[in-house]
Amino acid sequence: MRKYEEVVKPTQSLADITCDKCGNSCRRDLNYEFANMTAYWGYGSRKDEQVFDLDLCEDCFDIFMGWINGGCLRGGISTGREPSSTT
Ligand SMILES: [Zn+2]
Repeated sequence: MRKYEEVVKPTQSLADITCDKCGNSCRRDLNYEFANMTAYWGYGSRKDEQVFDLDLCEDCFDIFMGWINGGCLRGGISTGREPSSTT
């Protein structure tokens, strides 16, 4: 005979996404609006296999893009692709 007991497993649900620069929430109404940037640095680089994963709010993203566009790149960077889901 097997006896079973009910077990409640802890689960995680997304509570918020905060900007890694300013700390503000990226929540807008029912969605999150943010830029996710990932950098992988390989073996032999100065960062030697470090991975950076950043979430930026729209304001901080605009500052970042202003810095990029005002610096070495012109015309902005846009893939024209639809954003992926955050769920
Ligand atoms: Zn921010």
